Amino acid sequence: MQNMGLDLPQSDRTVRVRLVDTTTVMTVDALAFVDPVQEHHEHLNLTDVAFLIENDTTGQKVMFDLGTRKDYWNLPPVTLNRGAHILSGLKINQDVTEVLEGNGVKLDTISSIIWSHYHWDHTGNPALFPPSTSLVVGPGVTKSPLLLPGYPENPNSVLSAEAFAGRDVIEVNFDTTGLTIGGFRAMDFFGDGSFYLLDTPGHCLGHMCALARTTKDTFAFLGGDICHFVGDFRPSPAVSLPEHIPDGALDHDPAYFPAPCPCNLFTDQHPIVPTSSTDAKTTPFFKVSSHATSVNTDPATAQQSVDTLRAFDASPSVLVCLAHDPELLRFLPTFNEMPSADINGWKENGVKEKVRWGWLNELPRGGRPGRSPLVEGLWRDGRVWEEGRAVLCGEAKA
Ligand SMILES: [Zn+2]
Repeated sequence: MQNMGLDLPQSDRTVRVRLVDTTTVMTVDALAFVDPVQEHHEHLNLTDVAFLIENDTTGQKVMFDLGTRKDYWNLPPVTLNRGAHILSGLKINQDVTEVLEGNGVKLDTISSIIWSHYHWDHTGNPALFPPSTSLVVGPGVTKSPLLLPGYPENPNSVLSAEAFAGRDVIEVNFDTTGLTIGGFRAMDFFGDGSFYLLDTPGHCLGHMCALARTTKDTFAFLGGDICHFVGDFRPSPAVSLPEHIPDGALDHDPAYFPAPCPCNLFTDQHPIVPTSSTDAKTTPFFKVSSHATSVNTDPATAQQSVDTLRAFDASPSVLVCLAHDPELLRFLPTFNEMPSADINGWKENGVKEKVRWGWLNELPRGGRPGRSPLVEGLWRDGRVWEEGRAVLCGEAKA
C-alpha cells in the first residue's frame, strides 16, 4: 500500500497549490524553539511561506496564512514586546497582498483567509483584503478573552481588531466532523476531499495544519508552526539519515563538508542520543522547546503533534511543508517568481528527497556556527531600525 500507516482519504478532487514567499525572514533565539540548544546553534534562521489554494473544480481561491505585515511596528504592543524578546533579526519586503496583486490575483477573488494560528508572522494584515474575504480560525480563537475583542478595545490582545472588522469570521469545529486523518482530527474544507484542515494542538490555541490533495494520490501537508525546525522530526526510523548526505542538500562549504559528506559529521554531534549509538541516524535531533521562553503554550501537546506528524513525513505520498522551512524556497517554484507554477508536481520532481536534509546546514560545523544569520537587526523601510528593539519593548517612542 502506498499510504502505509496513514488512513489518507480517497478522492479524485484536487487543489492547485502555489507557494507564496511572504518575504519575511527572521533570525530567532533557538532556546524558544528547540531543545536542547547546542553551542554555536544559538540562533535559527526562518523563512516564512504562505499558500494560495485553488479548488480545481470550482475555481474557489483561499489563502492559507499570510506571513507578516510589512509595517510590523503597527502590530499590537503585546505582540511587539513578545517578538522583540526572541528576534535577533527581522525583515519583510512586501505584504502578501502586494505579492498577490503584483502577480495578477485580485484580492476580491480570495474567498477566505485561513490562519494556521493567530501569531503575527502568519496573520498578515487581513484588513488589506475586502470585507467579502472571510477569516477562518482554529478552535477556541473567537471565544478567547485574551484574543477578542482585538486591540485596541482589548489592550492586552495580540490581535488587531481591524483584522476582523466587517468580515465573516468562521471558527472551525472539529468536534462534529467525525473525520480523522493520520491521528489528527480533520475537516473537509471544500466538502469534496481536495483540502482538509487538521487539528494540530500545542503551539498555541487553535493551531491548525492543512492537507492539500496535489494529485489523486499525493498531498502537501501545510504545517504552519506545528514545529519550527525540521530537526524536530527528522531523522526518524522511517526516514533515517543515509550514510552520505545526498548531493545538493548541503551548502557549498568545501572547508568543512567533504564530497561526498558522511553523515557522521552530524550524527557525532547528535544532541540527544549517545554518539556511538546507531539511533543517532533514526532519532530526531531536537524536541520542541519547553524552555520558559518557549513559543509553545503547551510544549508537551506540541511535541505529541510533532510525533504524530512523523507518519506523514514517512509517507512517500506526502510532502511536509513547515511554514518556516527555508528548504522549500530552495527547491520549489514560488508564486512570486513564477506565478503560473504550482507545486502539485512535487513527487515527480523529487522534491521530497531534495528538501529532506537541508536543515543540517543550520547545525554547528567543526566547532563553529552553521549557516550565517539570514538577517541581522530589525529592519524598517529598507534599513536597520536602530532604535527598533527599544520601541518594540515599549521603552522608546516610534
Ligand atoms: Zn511562525
